[in-house]
Amino acid sequence: MSVTVNAQRPPSDSTQLPVDPVEREEEPAPEADPQRRFIWFQAAPAWLVSMLVHVLVLLVLGLVTIADPVKIVNVLSASYNSEEGPEIEEFTIEEIDPGEIAEMEEVVEPVDVAESIEMVEPTPMEPIEISQVALDMSDLASEMAPASMSLQTLSSMSFQPLSSRSAEMKKKLLRDYGGNDASEAAVTEALKWLSRHQMPNGAWTFQHNLVCNGRCGNPGEPNRAKALNAATAMGLLPFMGAGQTHIQGEFKSVVFRGLRFLIQNGKKGKKGGLPVLDLSEGAGNMYSHGLAAIALCEAYAMTEDPELAGPAQGALNFIVYAQCRDGGWRYRPQQPDGGDTSVTGWQVMALKSGYMGHLMVPPQTIKGSMLFLDKVQSNNGALYGYTGPSTKIRPSCTAIGLLCRMYTGWDKTHPGIVKGVAELSKKGVLKDDIYYDYYAAQVLRHYGGEQWDKFNVELRDWLVSSQSQSGGAKGSWHFPNSQSHRGPKEGGRLASTSFATMILEVYYRHMPLYADAAAEDDFPL
Ligand SMILES: [Zn+2]
Repeated sequence: MSVTVNAQRPPSDSTQLPVDPVEREEEPAPEADPQRRFIWFQAAPAWLVSMLVHVLVLLVLGLVTIADPVKIVNVLSASYNSEEGPEIEEFTIEEIDPGEIAEMEEVVEPVDVAESIEMVEPTPMEPIEISQVALDMSDLASEMAPASMSLQTLSSMSFQPLSSRSAEMKKKLLRDYGGNDASEAAVTEALKWLSRHQMPNGAWTFQHNLVCNGRCGNPGEPNRAKALNAATAMGLLPFMGAGQTHIQGEFKSVVFRGLRFLIQNGKKGKKGGLPVLDLSEGAGNMYSHGLAAIALCEAYAMTEDPELAGPAQGALNFIVYAQCRDGGWRYRPQQPDGGDTSVTGWQVMALKSGYMGHLMVPPQTIKGSMLFLDKVQSNNGALYGYTGPSTKIRPSCTAIGLLCRMYTGWDKTHPGIVKGVAELSKKGVLKDDIYYDYYAAQVLRHYGGEQWDKFNVELRDWLVSSQSQSGGAKGSWHFPNSQSHRGPKEGGRLASTSFATMILEVYYRHMPLYADAAAEDDFPL
């Protein structure tokens, strides 16, 4: 199964941008409660207009450029490094070099949970109605994103791309894909724990014990204390995975304040001529950005709230800018030594979420990520290494690589997928590596069949039984045996709870990439 990137499409096709101002004008959004508006973005319609115009101009130029075969292969020029890189664990964030400390210090203010943060006063900008620039970019986005059977399945749900989280669909998928009442009850308790650990300014922190005054323990490592964007994204994602948004559900205010924190805390600027929202941070670098970009893109895809369009697209633009020459991503944007599988995984997930929300995802970026996967794969795409191919199985890298392959177009009969799934199945659930379990669960769930059933039952029942049941920790998870340098150890109880909850949402968090016959019969897509 090859992935088609419509790079050769004549540019004339792309100039016919569908515009549907009428629909948006006829149905003005209900008067928003001023408290419920994203303050930064409230001031930003002019920015949005400018961004849309620039993006469209660049897209048109980009498509012209893409037709030129010389331009599209800039990522192809990267040399393949067959040497196994140094043994760096997947969630390790690079050692701080002393020269960077000054830069890191200015990234985030020290956490003061008692302080009620005043929102930044929006810069006055020329008022402009969003409807004046309403462009339906969905067709364009479909053309630009990689076409594949799996993604077509997703894009065919063009109306509500994340409708799998609506109440009815959620129940149905929960049952069909192996969730149960106990796993749902665990998700509910987890969301309560997360909501109790949100700071007054809307952020979460890996030092969550400061928020609850020590009513539960196991914070992350001190060097992650300032990674507020990463922590906030990890706090938010389980809510969205359960169908909770700032517009719908029981946790509207929690989700709203989290999203607002991310938007306000991101650095706005321009990179490569595109407006960007940079959510990387000294203590969490591109991990933070990828996670926060997923949160913004999912929130936009689920709600189509126009106030989120600019921030979500800006976050995606930063990913496009930050891609390394080998097509992957690393701690820092465009790091010369190339990408690693772990950081790349988060960026690809964000690009996919943006694609599902019909945001702009340049085909050359997707193409680049596929070249990176080629670089780190072995055994015909069944195994994935960290910065190069690995001869032994590295479970989390392999799970991430396979999920990225599924998202970028390999179908379930591809030999790499078949063999890779067999490897994961053989590994089974790893109780000391929830980061691997998180990715493996998604790969196996999309793949389905006996491998998924077996893996799911073990993982689900273990998580349900290991959730904290009492006291301040009720509803959360802590994995004391977590291997060092995997997310849960660095991110503490918050990260563990986030991963565990998202695993228990795997039944409905995303539509299955490879719908089986039964699902198709019931819900023709
Ligand atoms: Zn606590």
